Amino acid sequence: MTDKRRFTVIDGTPAPDTPAEQVRKRVRAMPRPKAMPQCGRCGGREYIEAKIGIGKSVTKQKLCVLCLMQGQRVVMG
Ligand SMILES: [Zn+2]
Repeated sequence: MTDKRRFTVIDGTPAPDTPAEQVRKRVRAMPRPKAMPQCGRCGGREYIEAKIGIGKSVTKQKLCVLCLMQGQRVVMG
């Protein structure tokens, strides 16, 4: 004997419109100038250059300052 259950469709609640989400939306909507690095995590454009190595074998990486201050090492592209 089978008991057929029907699933009822409920209205999905929209994503919470928190202040943080609003900031993310604004950052994403901003035009992105070319050749200007931007942090993929927080959207910040302030970076410091970290150098690894010496002489001709130096590797440079741009690290997001805002993320770095929060203990996150994010390399910007
Ligand atoms: Zn960042």
